[in-house]
Amino acid sequence: MKRSCLLTVLMGAALVCGLPDCSVAGEPPAMPVAPSHPLHYIATDFENASPLWWEVDADGVVQIQLVYDQERASPNRANGHWLFRVEAEPGSDLTLTLGPFANVWNGVLGKPTPEAKISFISDDGKQWRAIPAEPAEPYRFKLRVHLEGPSLYVARLEPYRLSDLERLKADIAGQPLVEITPIGRTVEDRELEMIRVGKPDAPHRVLLRARAHPWEPGGNWVVQGLIRRLLHGDEDARRYLDRYCLYVMPMANKDGVARGRTRFNQRGMDLNRKWDQPADPALAPENAALEKWVEMMIAQGKRPDLAIDFHNDAGGRLHVSRPDGGVTGLDEYVVRMERLEKLLREKTWFTEGSTKSNFRNPGTVGEGLLVRYGIAACIHELNANHIAGLDDVPTAEHWQLYGRQLAEVFWEYFGAE
Ligand SMILES: [Zn+2]
Repeated sequence: MKRSCLLTVLMGAALVCGLPDCSVAGEPPAMPVAPSHPLHYIATDFENASPLWWEVDADGVVQIQLVYDQERASPNRANGHWLFRVEAEPGSDLTLTLGPFANVWNGVLGKPTPEAKISFISDDGKQWRAIPAEPAEPYRFKLRVHLEGPSLYVARLEPYRLSDLERLKADIAGQPLVEITPIGRTVEDRELEMIRVGKPDAPHRVLLRARAHPWEPGGNWVVQGLIRRLLHGDEDARRYLDRYCLYVMPMANKDGVARGRTRFNQRGMDLNRKWDQPADPALAPENAALEKWVEMMIAQGKRPDLAIDFHNDAGGRLHVSRPDGGVTGLDEYVVRMERLEKLLREKTWFTEGSTKSNFRNPGTVGEGLLVRYGIAACIHELNANHIAGLDDVPTAEHWQLYGRQLAEVFWEYFGAE
């Protein structure tokens, strides 16, 4: 076809649809950002930023499309993390919608309304404040933001990145009560560490893990608050560490955090599943590393007495799973978890309570450590929308406060042992 002929055909097609920008196969698509729109760019060129793409719709709304995390050999998929920087005309007001949140969890499609009720924004990436996330079309929600300056960070929760962990480690490394030991490497070859705070010969041991799921930074802030509290050097800190020694695996899914992902590791494995069997070191080296460490501790006669795995969700409860088929010492385990819950209510802002006695969550690390290693272990969710005990949004400071309060909880907990 000659060029003039082709032009005639294309012009005819445009006339038929009646719109100057009506797309015809072979033509470039409509320009995503009109030159007059205040949005310049959405930047994701930094640590923990989420993979996404965006377009501006006919109403000027910025439609942001997050990329699902997907689980290996499973229908499960998850969007839950977002972190990006909006660059736009200073003084502009923008409406953003985020999605999709048609998440599949344990094989079940979630409700059309996303679980997120808030998002955080920041002018400098350091000082954050919460804004409401309004439900929009199914599986999406809307944020209205105002830019004072040329850019604005938007995040699900106050980010805790690998660089934040490195800063903490640099602060505490070399102190006499601290030992930071490499215990393995992630799929992408990042080093995994166990942080010991206290004396190895203390009568009791607490094991904490944070960040199995990258979208959930709450546990990182909690363990940071606790570690700093225990290293304060005051009389109370000495009293705590005379009774227990703390071991923290601070960031199990480092690859996912670095890449701004939501749930799975870089081989599509959920690091809070399949704990009913030995971890596959090729697919889930992060879990294999922790298993090896637990087995080493047990071989040395230093089995952890209590283990807590921190997560975020929309409920904030302790997940106490009673394994199907039972387990030796189940009654004793339940009594201990009740004691833990009671102390959390007394000594911290925790009010959310525990799961009911019919709760089962097989394959989680809580069940795995209990059944396979005889460790009193549970999952501790932290509400990602609201802290009822403080009647406030969940900020990094509130979670660090919770960590500081845990120091006394563990002291009391072991006082009854
Ligand atoms: Zn989680």
